[in-house]
Amino acid sequence: MLEIKNLHARIAEDGTEIIRGLNLTVKAGEVAAIMGPNGSGKSTLSYILAGRDDYEVTEGDILYNGESILELDPSERAAKGIFLAFQYPVEIPGVATMQFLKVAMNEQRKARGEEELKTPEFIKLVKEAAATLQINPDMLKRPLNVGFSGGEKKRAEILQMKLLGPQLCVLDETDSGLDIDALKIVSDGVNALRSPDRAVVVITHYQRLLEHIVPDSVHVLYNGRVIKSGDKDLALDLEANGYAGIIEAAA
Ligand code: ADP
Ligand code: MG
Ligand code: MG
Repeated sequence: MLEIKNLHARIAEDGTEIIRGLNLTVKAGEVAAIMGPNGSGKSTLSYILAGRDDYEVTEGDILYNGESILELDPSERAAKGIFLAFQYPVEIPGVATMQFLKVAMNEQRKARGEEELKTPEFIKLVKEAAATLQINPDMLKRPLNVGFSGGEKKRAEILQMKLLGPQLCVLDETDSGLDIDALKIVSDGVNALRSPDRAVVVITHYQRLLEHIVPDSVHVLYNGRVIKSGDKDLALDLEANGYAGIIEAAA
């Protein structure tokens, strides 16, 4: 489903290369975890997948279902079923969360040539999804992410993901800022999305999240490249021994 080949990318503004020959393949049905020390380029990779124009791809390709997405803008990527939950979700003052969700869902339906959702149908879907994530209905009336706690922001992201039902989900440090209960709710939300025709990429610093969302593959990102891949035991090894040995072996 996702094939990243020899990707090189730099910051558009000053030309600093951040992604330096990154290779990664994620199959449909797979949950892949990306780990790595701070500053490795994990968030940058998620921005590049989203299509943010502050980064430039200088070499290599990103294939999604066999087709390059490099020329697509962020909304075209979203319409094709790519969903990114960022480490720092964007605040949207003046737009109630409910309203935001309605626009997002209807945009997606439009792109697929489907009819707009009727309001009662929309409200029912949102209320059901919000309840499974233990989201307080009052939160849905507030502007998206404005003044939300860390945990509320992450739940709001998972809610969007549930409602949009993307094919490829990328979650950047969804565990940061979550207490144990919220971590469980968010993990359950992600696990409920597991399906044979969907792929999930979970970016995380810690093994803790991977106890709840057990990955099929684990990849270590360092200095803009994947330096080691393995199964879930690799995450346990990292937790016990840190990154130093793997970084040394790669060098
Ligand atoms: P990670 O998510 O793995 O902690 P990031 O992708 O956030 O790493 O950052 C990788 C490196 O690129 C860091 O050194 C960071 O400072 C730098 N970087 C990323 N984006 C920018 C930017 N827009 N401007 C300046 N530096 C950036
Ligand atoms: Mg970081
Ligand atoms: Mg990051």
